[in-house]
Amino acid sequence: MSSSTHAAQVSEVSAQLFERAGAAIPGGVNSPVRAFNAVGGTPRFMVSATGPWLTDADGNRYVDLVSSWGPMILGHAHPQVVDAVQAAAAGGLSFGAPTPAEIELAEEIIGRVGPVEQVRLVNSGTEATMSAIRLARGITGRTVIVKFAGCYHGHVDALLAEAGSGVATLGLPTSPGVTGAQAADTVVVPYNDIDAVRAVFAARGPEIACVITEPAAGNMGAVAPVAGFNEGLREITREHGALLIMDEVMTGFRVSASGWHGIDGVAGDLYTFGKVMSGGLPAAAFGGSREHMSHLAPAGPVYQAGTLSGNPVAVAAGLATLRLADADVYRALDANSRRLGGLITDALAAAGVTHRVQYAGNLLSVFFSEDLVIDYAGAKAAQTHRFAPFFHALLERGVYPPPSAFEAWFVSAALDDDAFAVIADALPAAAAAAAAA
Ligand code: PLP
Repeated sequence: MSSSTHAAQVSEVSAQLFERAGAAIPGGVNSPVRAFNAVGGTPRFMVSATGPWLTDADGNRYVDLVSSWGPMILGHAHPQVVDAVQAAAAGGLSFGAPTPAEIELAEEIIGRVGPVEQVRLVNSGTEATMSAIRLARGITGRTVIVKFAGCYHGHVDALLAEAGSGVATLGLPTSPGVTGAQAADTVVVPYNDIDAVRAVFAARGPEIACVITEPAAGNMGAVAPVAGFNEGLREITREHGALLIMDEVMTGFRVSASGWHGIDGVAGDLYTFGKVMSGGLPAAAFGGSREHMSHLAPAGPVYQAGTLSGNPVAVAAGLATLRLADADVYRALDANSRRLGGLITDALAAAGVTHRVQYAGNLLSVFFSEDLVIDYAGAKAAQTHRFAPFFHALLERGVYPPPSAFEAWFVSAALDDDAFAVIADALPAAAAAAAAA
């Protein structure tokens, strides 16, 4: 920033690449939040990463607090994950036939999440939630789905209404291209409002196929469920014969060995996973009881398929990551999250900036808000104008936070004292920038 005494990083190569990318790729990026629209400035084009560090095309180094939006819990290019990927790749990239390793990955997931007895592997979290919704509708013979404002479940047509993440960042109510028919069967209620859920079921119970939720929300910033909320969802859905879909694409295998289920123990009927279980390659999954999953083709009539599903290289990355993710890794993730949150709070408090660092397990985010944020309205009511200057001051000083006030920050177990020293050095200027905004 021009007012800073800090030597500004050069981002000339990134700027050139962004311009070139804009000619070939819509908006210059392959996923909207990467374009920095909410914070302005030049998105950094990354060329390599190791441990907690990212290196961009201009040679700048950053402490990574995005972790590829969740997957990289072990840090980047973990040697054992890279070895597993290289070995798998050398053995053939894709067969379009079953492999032994995909059974191992399925068993690893099943072994960690009690209510999941079977899983089907897919290629993205979006595919997982889309398929879980279809399965819920197929099982119940009902059409209506209930989702929560500010939760993001991928870019599935029926799930884009009042979605969090990039949809929130761009301020979209939903998306053109989603037809009235696709949106008509989606009912959106405020997160953490069990009375609103009860009211929807009282009015439309027999039509409702499922409730889909982030059991702890990470896509409007980090918003944990209030006491009794997930339990209430369990009770109401069971009472009305609807299925409860726990979307653990973000929380799964990150906030504990068994995701949010390991934290509150509330059992969903169907689960969706992605991110960590893929180790950074494209893989995801959905699962549930053997009974529910038996409705899927070829065992049952609900169709779902994928040319690259269970891809051997992605499976190798996911399996290696999960097998390395032991109790020490989860302890490190939790400790790093609290250490980061503590540093942020200290810096913002010293600068007199009203804020809350909120946690959902080891997910965290910074709300420039006096009140605890428990839903999307609260997240939007925060002083989001402070976020861009805060973000840029950090970026310029070698720290890479998510480029949106509506995203969670993702720590890795690889963050070390050197990385924390860079963060601690950067924060006072970032806090001053937020104060001045
Ligand atoms: N569900 C949740 C909770 C997510 O956070 C995301 C992505 O951030 C998705 C689903 C979609 O996953 P993907 O981006 O792999 O399609």
